[in-house]
Formats: sequence, C-alpha cells, structure tokens
Amino acid sequence: MNAVVLDRPGEPLHAADLPRPPLATGDVRIAVSACGVCRTDLHIRDGELAQPKLPLVLGHQIVGRVIEGGSRFAAGERVGVPWLAWTCGSCRYCRSGRENLCPQAEFTGYTRDGGFAAEAVADERYCLPLAGSMSDAALAPLLCAGLIGFRALRFTQDAARIGLYGFGAAAHIVTQLAAAEGREVYAITRNDDRAAQSLALEVGAVWAGGTDDEVPVELDAAVIFAPAGELVPAALGAVAPGGRVVCAGIHMSDIPSFPYELLWHERSICSVANLTRDDGERLFAQVARTPVTTHVEVFPLAEAEAALARLRAGAVRGAAVLTV
Ligand SMILES: [Zn+2]
Ligand SMILES: [Zn+2]
Repeated sequence: MNAVVLDRPGEPLHAADLPRPPLATGDVRIAVSACGVCRTDLHIRDGELAQPKLPLVLGHQIVGRVIEGGSRFAAGERVGVPWLAWTCGSCRYCRSGRENLCPQAEFTGYTRDGGFAAEAVADERYCLPLAGSMSDAALAPLLCAGLIGFRALRFTQDAARIGLYGFGAAAHIVTQLAAAEGREVYAITRNDDRAAQSLALEVGAVWAGGTDDEVPVELDAAVIFAPAGELVPAALGAVAPGGRVVCAGIHMSDIPSFPYELLWHERSICSVANLTRDDGERLFAQVARTPVTTHVEVFPLAEAEAALARLRAGAVRGAAVLTV
C-alpha cells in the first residue's frame, strides 16, 4: 500500500510501498480517505517527542471507511481514528475515567502506525463512528484539533471570556464551540499574523490581536495552543483572579520564571493530555447539534512533508489535511 514514512526524526518523510498491516482480533482495516496534519506530527518529525515507533507512518486524525475486521462496524461504514489508540483498561487511571493518562496507552501515528497511508489498522473500540454530511477532509481536523480543543475548553469550566493563544487548527474549532455556548473568545496570534486574526474573527472571536497587543478585557481563562512557554506568564497576566491557564499542547518550550504575583489570587496553570473515548462521543454529539465549519488546506498524501513545512512556518490558515 502507498504510504509516507518517517525513518528517523529530523529526516524528511518519504513515499514508500508498504505491506498491508496484519489484522488482530478486534481490529478494523480502514481505507483512509483523509488524514489531518497536527502539530504533534511535526513535533515527532522534528525529534521533539521521545521514542516514536520507527520507521513510522504518522497521522492521528484519520477518516476512512471500514474494509474488514472487528464486529462493531459494517463494511463501508465511515469511521474516525483519533490519537488514543489503546489503553490497558485495568490501571487506576483507566478504572477512574482517565484513560487519557494510562501509562501503557498506545497512540496512533506515534507508538503505532497512523493514517498517512492508503490503509490503516485500528482497534475498533477506539474508533469513532462518523455519520452526517460533513466531507471527509472537513471532519479530519475534529479528530485531534477538535478533540483536544474540546477537552481544553472543558478545563476552562464556565469561563465567560476566554483567551486563545495560537490560532490554528484547534483554536478555530474551539472558537465555534465556545461561541455556541455564549462565551466570548479573544484570539491572540503571532504579531502581525493577519491571516490568523481574520480567520479568528470570521469564526466568531470578538477580538483578535498579536502577543504585543493588550487584550481589551480581563480574561476568565486562557488556553495556550502555541508551543511557546513564554506565553504562560503572558496569559497569567491577562486572566482575572481565580482564572485558569490551560496548556493544550503535547510539547512546549521552557516556561520562563515569573513573579509569584502573576499566580497569586488563586490563578492556576494546568495541562491537557491526550483524550478519552468519552471526549470523542461528547464532541461529536455536540457537533451534531451545533455544526462547526472547519477551514482546511488540502494536500495530496505525497506532499505530507510540504504540509508539515507550512505548519512549521505558521503558514496554514486553519488546518492542513492530506487526502488519499
Ligand atoms: Zn490503563
Ligand atoms: Zn494531534
């Protein structure tokens, strides 16, 4: 089967003809039609995440149709495969609704092969049924950007005014989810990133500006999607007493030291790790009630490396998606 492969972190992905992966009991074989490109793929490609499976097929926002295997889905049914590929089911995290923290968890396109390929194999229990009329390419970013964004939004509790730092795939979905709940979104982008700022306003943010601009209100919470540690003290300085700063990325540069005054008055910092299957069910139920529009830049599979380069340069408006 056609695939794009990472042999070693730091090296470009290359096209390869791989044998079809074997099916274990409970696995489904999926004909991939679209796969989102995530910043995490870039972190793995660039060697910023430890110990990926090698050689590796990246990609954890898979949309495709079941070919064979398992018992949960009919052949031809449209399914999504997210980042969480498998958990042990018996550790204290798995038994308390926190399978996202399972120390033995496996991840699609990281510890297992993902969706930058014509076919993918996944444990059917971790796949999500994808009904509805959204196109395959439009759905793909929901499977990580949407899911992690959804989980991060839940971590802001009932904050009415939310700052989103870094306005890419996740933020453009979260803005729509938050606006539908009647919250105000303030988008903070790189200075002079007019494309990201105009996208933010288009999808429902009430204000968009650069990191050097002063956010015009005191925020109740902030979510940081950009992998830049210096945004943590900046966001703490922008949230009101009691406000929470949620770090939603899997990787971030070091957080510089900051005066305790920024944390004082019950401000807090937390991170969001991975997702649970429950997050998936709740996000897609919410999207069925309140549709979201994803803005995607589509690339053919063979141009995966070019798509990653655009993401690295901050040039993607919305989300990048590969079509197979
Ligand atoms: Zn576990
Ligand atoms: Zn991702």
